[in-house]
Formats: sequence, structure tokens, C-alpha cells
Amino acid sequence: MRIGLGYDIHRLATGRKLYLGGIEIDFPLGLLGHSDGDCVIHALCDGLLGAAGLGDIGEHFPDTSVEWKDVRSTVILKKVLEMVQAEGFKIQNVDVTIYAEKPKLAPYKSKIRKNLASLLGLEEGEVNIKAKTLEGLGLIGREEAVASHVALVLEEKSSD
Ligand code: MG
Repeated sequence: MRIGLGYDIHRLATGRKLYLGGIEIDFPLGLLGHSDGDCVIHALCDGLLGAAGLGDIGEHFPDTSVEWKDVRSTVILKKVLEMVQAEGFKIQNVDVTIYAEKPKLAPYKSKIRKNLASLLGLEEGEVNIKAKTLEGLGLIGREEAVASHVALVLEEKSSD
């Protein structure tokens, strides 16, 4: 069993679509980033790479590379998943926390859960989504950013 933890934060800005967990969220602001700024998927990728001992997302998908400019983060996740599977691991469960003052994410949690389960080839019961506000505190509380933590467990596929 291998444990992974990922974290990411992106700044909210005008003129961008908001993607969280691969789902487009109806909101006037979006997350700034080299890709689509989906901090949930980025945290998930880092957790997967970490658990598999494969480094971090910045090493494999540098924000200086034109190849990854404006790419949907779900494309990056698919590549990370292939890398993790190639090392002989399968995901046991994924636990996601999203920190956002706005928008309120309650109406999107089930959609994000379904989408991540489908992207990861897991049952919905193996993916959990938690959404929290920061009670008005700090960058996130001031609605300047959205962040995400992802904890997950990988197991080694048996070779028999
Ligand atoms: Mg990021």
C-alpha cells in the first residue's frame, strides 16, 4: 500500500472558465494557469505521482512547455494515470478536499465525484469529495483563489 498527498492552489481571474475536478462550474471567474488551472486535478496528479514515487506534476508537465499550454487538465491526468499503471499500481481510493469561498460547491460535488470516478476507473464509493469555505480568512476567504488537497492510496497489482 502506498499513500499519496497532493495540494494545489490557483488564483481566480476574469476571462477564464472555472474547471474543478474536470467539471465546468458556472461562475464569472476562472482559475489562472498554464493549463486550465484545475487545482483539483493538479492535486490529484501530484498525489498519484507521489504515491508511485514518480516526482511531481511540474517535472513531467512544465509550465514553460508550449505542449501543455491551455491543455485541459484531464488530458494531463490521463497521462499520469498511464505512468502510475505502468509502474504496476492501481488506485484503492481517493479523498478530495476543495477549498473555495465562492462558488458554493454543494451542487457540484456529486458531478465532480462521478467525473473523477469515471476518469480514474473507480467506483463512486471509492472517490470522496469534500468542499469547505475558509470562513472569510486569507486568500481563499477573500475569494482570490481556490485550492485543493487530495489524499489517496495505491496498491501494487499482484503479479500472479
Ligand atoms: Mg496547478
